[in-house]
This record gives sequence, C-alpha cells and structure tokens, in this order.
Amino acid sequence: MGNYKCVNGELTVNFNPTKCIHAEHCANGLSEVFSTSILPWINLEASSHEKIISQIKRCPSGALSFLHKISA
Ligand code: SF4
Repeated sequence: MGNYKCVNGELTVNFNPTKCIHAEHCANGLSEVFSTSILPWINLEASSHEKIISQIKRCPSGALSFLHKISA
C-alpha cells in the first residue's frame, strides 16, 4: 500500500505505510474509523473529528498524521 490520504471537510488524514509498525492502536482504539481488514481502511465519516485526531495522536510510529483546518 502506498501513501494514503483521506479528506473529510476540514480534516485531512495521511498514512505513511513505511513508518507503520502495525501496533494497531488505531484499529483497536477507534475501530469504526480505522480498519486493518477493510479497504479503504480510514472512514472519516464514522466518528467525530475530535475523536479521530485524539486517536491519531496515539499512533506510536508517526505513520498517521493529520491537518485540521479551523474555519474562521
Ligand atoms: S497506530 Fe500507527 S503504527 Fe499502529 S497500526 Fe495504526 S498507523 Fe500503524
């Protein structure tokens, strides 16, 4: 799998598979958004942006990152 980018409104999530250590904190912590068995494996519509960002911050490898545009 190459680099993966997922966009939902003001939230953009990037996944860099070369950094992923497959600890699966993402899928275990927020399974409705992050899946290890279903493609596309990031479903940004399945939870709130706050929960998704909080889960991304727990990624131990830095494979997941995000950009959140705050609307004025
Ligand atoms: S939490 Fe990060 S390192 Fe772990 S499986 Fe998800 S993307 Fe990979």
